Amino acid sequence: MNVKDARAHTEPDHHAEGPGFQPRELVLLGAGHAHVNVLAALAARPLIGVRIILVAPHPRQMYSGMVPGFVAGHYPLEDCVIPLEPLVRRSGVRWLQRSVKALDAKNNTVQLDDGSTLRYDWLSVNTGSVQNREHMDAAIPGARTHGLFVRPIEAFSALWPRVVEMGTERALRIAVIGAGAAGVELAMAIRHRFPQSAVTLVTGDAAVGSNYPATVQLRIQAALKLRHITVLQDTAIGLTAEEVRLGCGAGLACDVALLTTGGQPPTWLADSGLALDAKGFIAVDEYQRSTSHGHVFAVGDVSTRTDRSLARSGVYAVRAGPALARNLTAATTGGTLKAHMPPDSTLNLLSCGDRYAIASWGNFSAEGRWVWWLKNWIDRRFLARYTSST
Ligand SMILES: Cc1cc2nc3c(=O)[nH]c(=O)nc-3n(C[C@H](O)[C@H](O)[C@H](O)COP(=O)(O)OP(=O)(O)OC[C@H]3O[C@@H](n4cnc5c(N)ncnc54)[C@H](O)[C@@H]3O)c2cc1C
Repeated sequence: MNVKDARAHTEPDHHAEGPGFQPRELVLLGAGHAHVNVLAALAARPLIGVRIILVAPHPRQMYSGMVPGFVAGHYPLEDCVIPLEPLVRRSGVRWLQRSVKALDAKNNTVQLDDGSTLRYDWLSVNTGSVQNREHMDAAIPGARTHGLFVRPIEAFSALWPRVVEMGTERALRIAVIGAGAAGVELAMAIRHRFPQSAVTLVTGDAAVGSNYPATVQLRIQAALKLRHITVLQDTAIGLTAEEVRLGCGAGLACDVALLTTGGQPPTWLADSGLALDAKGFIAVDEYQRSTSHGHVFAVGDVSTRTDRSLARSGVYAVRAGPALARNLTAATTGGTLKAHMPPDSTLNLLSCGDRYAIASWGNFSAEGRWVWWLKNWIDRRFLARYTSST
């Protein structure tokens, strides 16, 4: 057998025929970046003989890549979203505007937040990661009450205008906790939005932008310094209404504490029976298929590729869409699955708030206003793919 291809050993056990026939069902959980691509693919080429159900709670998918631009004030929120209704209508899938609450991989069912249960023959999960409030409140007591969580992005983007209102009344003291790409971009976006405010980036154990090559880290540090963003290499150990308590014993006075620390797996995966990685994300193979349940697929931040040390990332979710669409078609029609091999290096564009950005691709890096225009063009083109014919 070709190692890159595999027969779709994903046929469900219960081929129903004759009396009591039930159409076979493919359930798509979440309208993440890969699933919007699957919906677009279904609109172009419908799947015959399979009933497809999408479970997605919100009427739109936020495009996180443009959220820092929304925070900076470059884009209205409507420019950063993919409305689902037109995509769903064109693709012919049934849409349940619900959240999944439980998954039982042994019995092929998912439970929704209205108490109903859905049976599936094939399942595809693209629900992203979460900021687990309990987990974060244990690490940073007071986080739940006093922190502004960046995830779910829907909730964050609904709350952000309130911060903008506060920021127009007085100079705010804003702490961004977590210095990954999202934290760095948001800190610089906030600086641009509120030039009079004090913006502090609390990095935790890791260096600023620690996922990037050293040259890019230097560019990020210089960009933060130039924009008068204070970087504290310390850990937030508590939040109150007035301050961030730091590991060194000091308190950082703050009006808004934005929590951008990394995502956790959704809690409903823990008892699902699916094979999970050490952190609790769905373990998948090169076909984006659960390593324990061949008729379950998972992509994006909710999953981890076990065949390569591939970090969960939005880029991965976006790029995984076409491959997932092909493999779902193959799985449901008895075709051949194809391995999805994302490139080792991808172009990373980090916005600096003031229509300036840093580019990183393998060992190459650059920065300038032109990088921001490139990012803006790529982001808008990505969204236009799903919104242009609505
Ligand atoms: C501010 C910010 C900027 C970022 N910028 C970038 C960037 O420039 N490039 C990049 O690569 N990454 C970026 N990221 C990371 C990126 O957001 C994630 O890696 C990416 O969103 C993952 O995509 P996904 O499709 O797996 O999940 P998501 O985009 O999180 O989508 C998941 C979907 O599932 C839905 N959902 C969630 N729970 C349930 C449930 N229980 N039932 C049903 N549906 C559910 C959600 O509503 C959502 O629509 C950024 C993150 C942030 C916070």
